[in-house]
This record gives sequence, C-alpha cells and structure tokens, in this order.
Amino acid sequence: MADKRRLFSLIPKVDDILNEERIMEILEDNNRDFVVKHVRQNIENIRKHIVELKDNEIESFKVDEDMVISNIIESVEKEKAMNLRRVINATGVVLHTNLGRALINDELKNSIWDAVSNYSNLEYNIETGKRGSRYSHIEEVLGQLTGAESAMVVNNNAAAVLLVLSTMAKNKEVIVSRGQLVEIGGAFRVPEVMEQGGALLKEVGTTNKTHVWDYENAIGEETGLLLKVHTSNYKVVGFTKEVSIDELVEIGNKYNLPTVEDIGSGTLVDFSKYGIIKEPTVQESIKKGIDVVTFSGDKLLGGPQAGIIVGKKKYIDAMKKNPLTRAIRIDKLTLAALEGTLRTYLSAKNPEKEIPTLRMLTYSHEEISEKAHNLYEVLINSLKDFLIEKEEGYSQVGGGSMPTEYLKTTLIKINHKEKNANWIEKKMRESNIPVIGRISEENILLDVRTIKEEEFNIIKTCLVEIEKMAQGGK
Ligand SMILES: *Cc1c(COP(=O)(O)O)cnc(C)c1O
Repeated sequence: MADKRRLFSLIPKVDDILNEERIMEILEDNNRDFVVKHVRQNIENIRKHIVELKDNEIESFKVDEDMVISNIIESVEKEKAMNLRRVINATGVVLHTNLGRALINDELKNSIWDAVSNYSNLEYNIETGKRGSRYSHIEEVLGQLTGAESAMVVNNNAAAVLLVLSTMAKNKEVIVSRGQLVEIGGAFRVPEVMEQGGALLKEVGTTNKTHVWDYENAIGEETGLLLKVHTSNYKVVGFTKEVSIDELVEIGNKYNLPTVEDIGSGTLVDFSKYGIIKEPTVQESIKKGIDVVTFSGDKLLGGPQAGIIVGKKKYIDAMKKNPLTRAIRIDKLTLAALEGTLRTYLSAKNPEKEIPTLRMLTYSHEEISEKAHNLYEVLINSLKDFLIEKEEGYSQVGGGSMPTEYLKTTLIKINHKEKNANWIEKKMRESNIPVIGRISEENILLDVRTIKEEEFNIIKTCLVEIEKMAQGGK
C-alpha cells in the first residue's frame, strides 16, 4: 500500500498539464472548461489504474506524461468530432433506414451549402421584394414532373398523410380497404395516423378482396374522402382483388368525394424498364385523376427526408392554411436538397445515372460484376491473412420499398484464417470510418451495390488494420 501512495504522488497535477506546450496549443482553439474536463478525466483514469494495480505490477509502473498528453488530445478531438458521421454501407440494402436511406447527389453540395450558409430567399419574393412562400421553390418543378396543379412539402410522408387527413377529413369518415391498413415500421400505422388526423376510419372489404361495391355501400353523409394506401412493404398475393385507381376516381366522381393516395415510396421512374418490379408512379396517379397524392422524399425518389404532397390547388391551399403545417414544416436544409434533387430529374440527361439511389438500383449485372471484380482486386493485392472470394447473391431495395424484389448482385466473401466473422465484423464497425457488412453462415459478405468506388481503398485500409490487430493478438 505504501508503494501505491508513492505512485499516487506521481500523478501529474491539472495545472501542470495545462501549462504543457501541446495542451496550450489546443487551448487556443478550444473552450478552456472543455479541455480541463478531458485533463481531469484522463488524470482520473491514471488514478483508477493505480488503484487496480496488482502488487507485482507496482514496481514497474510509470507515468508516461507524453502519453497522458496524447491521450488528452485524442479524447478532446474525439468528443469534438460529430457523432453523426459517414459509414460505408456494404450491406447492399439501397434504402437502408438505419443508415440514412437515400444519398444526396454530391454535385448538389455547393448549391445546398450556398443556400444555407448564407441568407436566402427562403420566404422572400425577390421580384416583388415582399414576403414569399417556402413552397414556391419546389411547386413549379413538382408540377412539371408530376403534372399536378399544386404542391407542398412537409417534414416526412407520415406528416404529409396526417396533414392531408386533418385538412380534408377532420371529423369525417375516411374509407379505406382492409387490405391497405399498413404499418410502416416504427409507429406509422394507417389507423392510428387517421385517429391523430381527427378522421374516422371506415374499413371496407376484406384483407384479400375489396370491390367497388364495398366502397359504394360504405359511402354516406359522413364520408369525407376515399383513401388508397400503397402497400409498399408487403404484398397480398393469390385470390385477391383491389379497387384500381381508375375505379376509385370513378367512385369519387360519382359521389362527389375527393380521392387521396398515399403512394409511400413515390417514384417518378418506371422501374420495369430495368427489369425491376413496377412501382406506381406519382404522375400516373395524378393523370388518372387522384385529387391528392403523398409520398416520401427519401425513398425511391432519392432525396432528403421529406413528405411531398401534390394535387388539386384547392386542397393544397387549404393545407397551407392548416395550423398543423407550422409544426411539421420543412427546414431550409432539407428544402435545398429536395429542390436540387427535383431539378436533377428535370434537367439531367439521365437521372437514373445521376441520382445515387436510382443508380444503385439500376446497375446492370455486368456493371455490378465489374465493380465487384475491382474491389476484389484491391483486396486480394493487399491482404495476406484473409481469404477473398467472389460469390453471386442478391441485394434488397430496403426502406419498405419493393419487398419482394431481390436484385442480382456479386458479393465479396471474406474470411480470416484465424478470427471468426463476428470478431471481424465488430472490428469493421469500430473502424475510423465504420464499414457495415453482412454475415452469412460464418462469412463476411460485402455487397458492392451500395459501396462507392472511392470507398474501396478505405475498406482495404480498414482490413489491413484488422490484420495487424489480429496479428497483435488484440
Ligand atoms: C414509408 C411510408 C410512409 C412513411 O413515410 P416517411 O417519409 O418515412 O414518414 C407512409 N406511407 C407509406 C405507404 C409508406 O410506404
């Protein structure tokens, strides 16, 4: 014990550390209390370490001041760095909700940043010099892309549906098929959103079959609107019947009721030309006469998180005046990213190649194979302790979109000669830029569909480091 007392007296004093040159340097750029907190924490760690020393370790214990200072600087830098940061998505799930869904096109970086790091015309009309509307920036573009008379955007599609119901069907009945009472992960369930929006749910038909006459029988004095919800994350197959958009619009016209469609993933592109399942497009629903369509900004559209509402002007105008709009209003950062994405659809020679989500979904099998081969080459030439192989497999769309669609892909399968897949997977996650892969039957699988070419070298460096750790027995 006496010896430990000697060790405690070796612990550096806070004031002495603060006078060290390297610490004085970081004090110039950082808040003093913030740095002091890290100095104290690191000193406390040494004290704890001494307390835990075994008798036979006391003799050889030393306080390495240089090391202490390096640790302090490292912990300051670590806490300063943003916790929300990039990861490499090697899962092949394109719209991975946990990894941030759609990626914003790099090319929009400058214009987005220009609009948000300066004052902007967010709600200012430059021509008149008077107050403007934040929706004006996207309204015209959305009109051109979807054929809708009017448009607005809110925080996400869940909010969009809530706003539509609360504006168009408060205290009224909303007729919806029992086959479409969707739950979209988290807490979004059609019946509950309905309740929040102050609308009364009137279910019709059965899980597998709903007919025109089911709707007609349910229509009465209290009916506010007819709702169609796209069953984006599941499919009812077999003995089924759904009322088509044309039929729904016809019923709406006959009984003078508005029709609303929550299309969920909301794509503007017909994916069937790429051999992928056809998702309903927004412009088709508008063309067929649906009054209001809502969809997500960060699913198949490939933009930022947002809820987009397009349709007849009289309904959209009423939504803009709804007090709820203020609570779910879109932020300028999101608006800038959304406007940029929409203008890409409008002007790009080939939006499928420029919008990252679309590019990743529409790779041909040859493109994927070539990309996989390139990653394979990068890895095989730098790693000694890993077995690297190529294997055919499938990627998923994710984000609750196209649940039955499996996209053919080429996977890189890696195995370490000693360490198991769980150990490797954890080290990959803990890397400077975390690499998130899949594990299947004791193999690590990397799917190049969602990996950028410029990330190949980052993955290589990550695995080289892991090889070193494995050799060091850590
Ligand atoms: C995804 C989805 C939603 C929720 O959209 P968010 O933008 O995630 O809020 C609502 N309805 C349908 C049909 C969906 O697919």
